[in-house]
Amino acid sequence: MDCKPVTQSEVFEVLRDCLDPELGRSLVLLGQVRQVEVSGGRLSVVIGLPTFAAPIWEELRMEFTQKLRRAFGQLPEVEVVLEAVDRAPEKLGVVGLSAKSVVAVGSGKGGVGKSTVAALLAQGLGRAGCRVGLLDADVYGPSIPHLLGVHQQPIVVNDRLQPVWADGIAVMSIGFFVPPGEAVLWRGPMLHNAISQFLRDTDWGPLDYLIVDLPPGTGDVALSLSQLLPVTEAVVVCTPQDVALLDATKAIAMFRKLQIELLGMIENMSYFICPGCGMRHEIFSSGGARRRAELLNVPFLGEIPLNVGLRVQCDAGRLAQVWEQPPLADCFQAICKQLVRQAVALRRQKAHHLPLPVL
Ligand code: ADP
Repeated sequence: MDCKPVTQSEVFEVLRDCLDPELGRSLVLLGQVRQVEVSGGRLSVVIGLPTFAAPIWEELRMEFTQKLRRAFGQLPEVEVVLEAVDRAPEKLGVVGLSAKSVVAVGSGKGGVGKSTVAALLAQGLGRAGCRVGLLDADVYGPSIPHLLGVHQQPIVVNDRLQPVWADGIAVMSIGFFVPPGEAVLWRGPMLHNAISQFLRDTDWGPLDYLIVDLPPGTGDVALSLSQLLPVTEAVVVCTPQDVALLDATKAIAMFRKLQIELLGMIENMSYFICPGCGMRHEIFSSGGARRRAELLNVPFLGEIPLNVGLRVQCDAGRLAQVWEQPPLADCFQAICKQLVRQAVALRRQKAHHLPLPVL
């Protein structure tokens, strides 16, 4: 057995090809391997990571630990501790929004659970430790205020709109400005101005993710986002039925045309577990979105069951309560992780094509 003492530089060497999940660059070169201590048989390392990747911190910690264990098998104890690096997001586009990722949630048609999924993604990322904003841009049916049970009008401070806070998420909705039951009739240019204002004049603070609930179909809001922001990412929600999949395919084609990056597809109402007999029923068929995603070369982020509890909490404006229901919470958590893995993968791909930073 090799009993040579392990040096700090050997540890740095082993961690050299571990990448920052947001920048896709070496953690060592970025100065984020903050502390390396070897004493007795114990190696202890402190690594700084961005909250952008908070949902997958634990798996990254495991990855780093295993790498060190493999390299230094002679050490009986290897410990990796993670802490947040405070890296302000860049200001994006003409609107100067301070966010690391803007994720538009779209669907081919209405009623597939797009708003519910948008709100759950925001909550899931927020609960995992990301800084999250949720913009409800669904002009035809702004349902986010209802889902989250927030109905107060946002206030203005120093000419800046203050988002309404719900379950740790900054929320802004077209619905805050329209009396309930009234329809919004906005043409393209008005809508563009409204979206631009929501992005520019809202005090979002620095965000890891701004989740945007789009109107269903293919259209104006996605176009505005692609014009106002340098990069937008997107998720498409659909049900497993053929008609819904056909419409989802159109939404994907639109995102591709607008050069909006696809993080993946989510299948909602995939199956129903009967509370009486425990059997799984595939009411709208099943697996269609996974197959379609494969065919279209889009990542598949996961399946959400049709669940009465979820519907009840939506109707009651208490969506956050579904996180207390273990099978549902596990399912949403897995989807959030998958979304972050895709966002990280995209950044790594891009970083690969950039010149090395001068440090
Ligand atoms: P969209 O934004 O696509 O129009 P919504 O998110 O408003 O759809 O959802 C439509 C309805 O379906 C809501 O009443 C919501 O509570 C319900 N719903 C959405 N997903 C589920 C699900 N997985 N299980 C049960 N009800 C759901």
